[in-house]
Amino acid sequence: MLDIYKYCYQCGKSLSSKNVDNEYIPYCDKCEKYFYIDPKLVVVVLVEHIGKLVLIKRSFEPAMGRWCFPSGYVNKGEKVENAAIREVKEETGLDININEFIGLYSSDNNPIVIAAFSAKSFGGKLYSGFETDAVDLIEIDSLSDFPFEFDENIYNDYLRINKNK
Ligand SMILES: [Zn+2]
Repeated sequence: MLDIYKYCYQCGKSLSSKNVDNEYIPYCDKCEKYFYIDPKLVVVVLVEHIGKLVLIKRSFEPAMGRWCFPSGYVNKGEKVENAAIREVKEETGLDININEFIGLYSSDNNPIVIAAFSAKSFGGKLYSGFETDAVDLIEIDSLSDFPFEFDENIYNDYLRINKNK
């Protein structure tokens, strides 16, 4: 393992590791942060259901107890759009069609790369999955709390794309 994965670049503490999807990922217990060796692709999905936007309440860290968009990691060998469909099904119970690619979001020193999509439900039943405490529907243009780094950008890009249609 490279030296940069032995110590936390934020606090200098030795990294431990945690099992994520059957892979051991370097982890800082103090900063509660993973150190992915490769970029890690995450899908974020803005789902329209009966004319409203679907939010989920997270049941574990990061951002525990806060409302955010359905999202999750893309598995190795998984088509990105299918990961979006799978995560929305797991977290909300809804079946969706992907509408549009909203954008790709990344920043320096952040291993997470986000691919954001808009989607519309066509079936399924809204429920709370095991990763979520609750599911809620809000007016599409009424969101004002953004727990994650790219949420506000994604949301603004989504509104802009919607308006231009
Ligand atoms: Zn640390």
